[in-house]
Amino acid sequence: MLHHRESVRDEMFDEVFASSDLSVSMPKYRIPEREHLPRHAYQVVSDELLLDGNSRQNLATFCQTWLEPEVRALMAETLDKNMIDKDEYPQTAAIEARCVHILADLWNSPDAANTLGTSTTGSSEAAMLGGMALLWNWRARRRAAGQSTDRPNLITGPVQVCWHKFARYWDVELREIPMEGDRFLMTPEEVVARVDENTIGVVPTLGVTYTGGYEPVQAVSEALDRLQTETGLDIPIHVDGASGGFLAPFTATDIVWDFRLPRVKSINTSGHKFGLAPLGVGWIVWRDASDLPKELIFDVNYLGGDMPTFALNFSRPGGQIVVQYYNFLRLGREGYRKVHQSCYDTAMFLADEIGKLGHFDIINDGSPEAGIPAVSWKLKEGVEHPFSLFDLADRLRTRGWQVPAYTMPANREDLAIQRILVRAGFGRDEATLLMDDYRDAIAHFDKHPITVPMSEDEAGSFHH
Ligand SMILES: *Cc1c(COP(=O)(O)O)cnc(C)c1O
Repeated sequence: MLHHRESVRDEMFDEVFASSDLSVSMPKYRIPEREHLPRHAYQVVSDELLLDGNSRQNLATFCQTWLEPEVRALMAETLDKNMIDKDEYPQTAAIEARCVHILADLWNSPDAANTLGTSTTGSSEAAMLGGMALLWNWRARRRAAGQSTDRPNLITGPVQVCWHKFARYWDVELREIPMEGDRFLMTPEEVVARVDENTIGVVPTLGVTYTGGYEPVQAVSEALDRLQTETGLDIPIHVDGASGGFLAPFTATDIVWDFRLPRVKSINTSGHKFGLAPLGVGWIVWRDASDLPKELIFDVNYLGGDMPTFALNFSRPGGQIVVQYYNFLRLGREGYRKVHQSCYDTAMFLADEIGKLGHFDIINDGSPEAGIPAVSWKLKEGVEHPFSLFDLADRLRTRGWQVPAYTMPANREDLAIQRILVRAGFGRDEATLLMDDYRDAIAHFDKHPITVPMSEDEAGSFHH
C-alpha cells in the first residue's frame, strides 16, 4: 500500500524526462497495454515531430505555413465542429455559402449570388468534382444525340497528379500536352490538335506545378470558339486555379482567365495555398447552376432538415472554412494584394540574386503576370558546374532549407530544375539569409567538387 502510494506520488512529481514512462522506448506498432499520463505521451509525440523539417523553411510547399494568432484561436474554437452538420451549425454553413459567393464574385461570375459551389478538402477533391461534372455533362449530351459514351478524354497541359488520379479513377483518357524544348505550358494549337467529339473538357492550370507559370486560358478559350464555329464542337473549360485562383484576382487583374470567359464553366482553388487558410480547405465554383448535373447532388435528411451535398467526404472540420471567411474580412482586396505583392517582390529579388550567381538560367522570375510567386531555374548549359542541383538541395538541407530539385515530366525528363515557392511568412530578410547559404553551398562545391568535368553537350543533363 505504502509502495503504491509512493509510486503514484513519484509519477505526479517526477520531472517528465525522469519519469518511468520516459525511461523506456515507447511501443511503435502496437497499442500499449497500459495508460500513460497525458503530459508524458504529449512529450514523446511532440519530441518525435522535431525530426520533421521546419515548415517555415520548406520552400517546396505551396501550402500555408504562417498563421496569425487569431487564426489559431479560431481553429481552436472550431475544433469540435463538423461542417457537414449544417442543421446543427447553421452559422458555419452560412459562412461556407458566403465564401462560395465571395469567390464567385472575385472570379467575375455573371450572377455571383446564384452560383453553385462548395468547399472541399483541397484542390484535389475539387478537381475530382469538377472533372465529374464535365464527364456527366458530356455523357448527357452524347446520350441525347444517340452517340456512344465509351471513350471520354480530357485535355490538359502538364498537370498536377490530381488530374492523373481523376483520369484513372473515372476511366477517362488523359491527353496531357507534353513539354517541348522551352515550352513548358499548353498552347491553343496543342489543345485544338487533341480535341475530338469525345473531349469532355479542357483544363488549363493557373500556376503549373513544375514552373509556376500561368497557362493562357483566354487564348485557349478563343481557339475553342473558332473550333466551335468550324466544327460545331462545344468544349467546356475547367480552370485549375489551385494557386492562381487566389492570386490573379489581386495581382494580375489584366489577365482574363475566369468567368469573364463564357466557356469557363468551373474553377477550383486551394484555400490553404494563397487563400491563406490553414491546411484542409479547397473550393470549387460553377459558373451557373445548370453546369452542375443534378444527379451529382445528394439530399440527406438525417441531420435534421433537407441538406443538399455534393462532395466526396462527409465529416470534415469546420475551422478552415471559418478561417477562410476570417481572411476575407481581415484582409479584403487590399490586404490580399499586399500580402501577395510582398511575396512577388521577394520572389523577384531571389530570381535576380540567383541569376547573378552565373551558374543558372532563370525559368520563372516570379513576376505577377507570368505566374505564381515562385522562382525556378536550371543549370546553364555549356558551362562546367562542380555540383548538380540535387547536390545543392542536399547541401541546403544542412541549414534546414528545403529547396527542391526535380526533373520535368514528358518530354523534358532530361531537364532538372530547382524551385522556391515564396509564401506569406517568408520575408526579404529570411531570403537574404537563404541566399547567403546558397552562395556558401556553391563555395563548398567549388572547394570540394563532386562531379567530374565533362563535355559541353553532357553538361545540361549530367545530373541524372
Ligand atoms: C496543389 C495543387 C493541386 C492539389 O491541391 P491540394 O489542395 O493540395 O489538394 C492541384 N492542382 C494544382 C495546380 C496545384 O498546385
